Amino acid sequence: MLNIILVGPPGSGKGTQAEQMIQKYGFISIALGALLRQQIAENGANKAHIEAYINNGQLVPDDISFQIIRELIQTKPSDASLLFDGFPRTIVQVTFLDNCLVSYHAKIDGVILLDVPNVHLLKRLRQRSTIEARPDDQDDDKIKARMHIYQQETLPMLNYYQHQNKLYRVDGTQAIDEVTKAIENIIDRLKL
Ligand code: ADP
Repeated sequence: MLNIILVGPPGSGKGTQAEQMIQKYGFISIALGALLRQQIAENGANKAHIEAYINNGQLVPDDISFQIIRELIQTKPSDASLLFDGFPRTIVQVTFLDNCLVSYHAKIDGVILLDVPNVHLLKRLRQRSTIEARPDDQDDDKIKARMHIYQQETLPMLNYYQHQNKLYRVDGTQAIDEVTKAIENIIDRLKL
């Protein structure tokens, strides 16, 4: 059992790498952004509310996110390894997740940071907007809002994990396969 957080700015390749990790190690994925988009697609109860935040590149309020995360942790098989992708993104979310896991006698074992400088991100997200048509990729203001939140809210939360010696940094500008290899090296070390 190994619980990992994959963190990185928008466009850093979290989704692509998460897929590889799920295939290779059988992680259960907890990808909050994808789960929120799914709620919109399925006309879920909070659809309009979620849509207003997500499409503008803002963080969805914690009461909505926490309910989704809590339910997933509650219903997971007790021996499952979890891969958190895009959650937590703030110190408040870190505290919530820690408390939630403690009540299931679980903890975060490692946090893998996909490090990609801003110049690359804008280029990648503009490209993705032509392929995936995500509303939050459609204009530079929305992309920049997400990059700003990452700098202001998410980067500070990494100090917390660094102090616990749980933070692993990967150069996310490398080719996809190289990034995958670097992540696998970290996970294999953690599993020993
Ligand atoms: P990206 O990291 O490229 O922005 P995601 O699919 O991970 O893509 O997230 C898309 C959007 O989903 C975010 O901009 C935000 O609106 C919402 N979201 C994702 N994770 C969180 C979170 N931890 N807290 C609040 N909102 C979130």
